[in-house]
Amino acid sequence: MRSTQASWGRSRSYVSTEVADQAPTVSDRLLGAVWGHLVGDALGVPYEFRSPADVGPVHWGAVGTHGQQPGTWSDDGALMLALLDSLLTSGFDVEDQGRRALAWYDGNVYSPAPVFDVGITTSRALERLRAGATAALAGGAAESDNGNGSLMRILPVAIAEPGLSKRVLVERAALASCLTHRHPRAQLTCAVYCVIASQLLFGEQDIRDLPQRSISDIATVAAPELTVEVATLRDYQQRTGGGYVLDTFWSAWSAFESATSYRQAVEAAIRFGNDTDTTASVAGGLAGLHWGVQSIPDEWLRGMRGRQIVQPLTDRLLDAWRTSPHPSNPISAP
Ligand SMILES: [Mg+2]
Repeated sequence: MRSTQASWGRSRSYVSTEVADQAPTVSDRLLGAVWGHLVGDALGVPYEFRSPADVGPVHWGAVGTHGQQPGTWSDDGALMLALLDSLLTSGFDVEDQGRRALAWYDGNVYSPAPVFDVGITTSRALERLRAGATAALAGGAAESDNGNGSLMRILPVAIAEPGLSKRVLVERAALASCLTHRHPRAQLTCAVYCVIASQLLFGEQDIRDLPQRSISDIATVAAPELTVEVATLRDYQQRTGGGYVLDTFWSAWSAFESATSYRQAVEAAIRFGNDTDTTASVAGGLAGLHWGVQSIPDEWLRGMRGRQIVQPLTDRLLDAWRTSPHPSNPISAP
């Protein structure tokens, strides 16, 4: 039985105190995506770089690896919020996405804590951007550049506006990835994640084989340079919570697919060990979409730092949906 406990995470006219056992609304799922990603990141931060055997019991309030206060999200959350802010402010503009990512890297925005965790491929790309590179060409394009640094921030592409066709969703996810990760494998993985997220947002309940179905769908709309990676993504077997984009994607999917609650999904993601915060943020975004913001344990939501950073963005996100006249939008104003 759910309670009214999480109603603070909802916004203005969307507040409902009667949420017990109801299917999440689209607003609940939008908030669940953002908070689910951030809470997963924060829960995973203390366990980063540990082997699975050394993770031990996962509990809220640990300090751990980075010495951060409980409830502090890392680069995953910050760059996700930077992308969300960009999409809500400027529409889809990869140059603006680059400026906001660099603002985080240089100026400690989109985070309640100074930068304490940044991947090498992301760091190199942001240095190139600062030196004047075009944003769409800033990302590393070598096979060795297929870390999870674009997958970990890509979620807003799927949720910032209603009515995107699958083709546009795939194009945008791939281009947004290019800011830091330009190899087709990272681009395709971001596209598949966004297509899955979009389906969960609209209430898809049959999650069995959703990645395989999404990969097949994408193969019909994606540019040929992306589809060469379809089999590599589809057939990848390793699930170790590592920093390789395919490992992160499948580990996060496996954690989500095997869970019956948000808590189970992010805890399972962290128990893989290694890149725990990223696996848990990628899984947490999916879990928050599927089960809604109410499914996030109250202690965790209330324990998050940086609410003053997140709330204006989620208010704008819900307003963007409420005022969008697109016919596919289930919450637009009449
Ligand atoms: Mg991180």
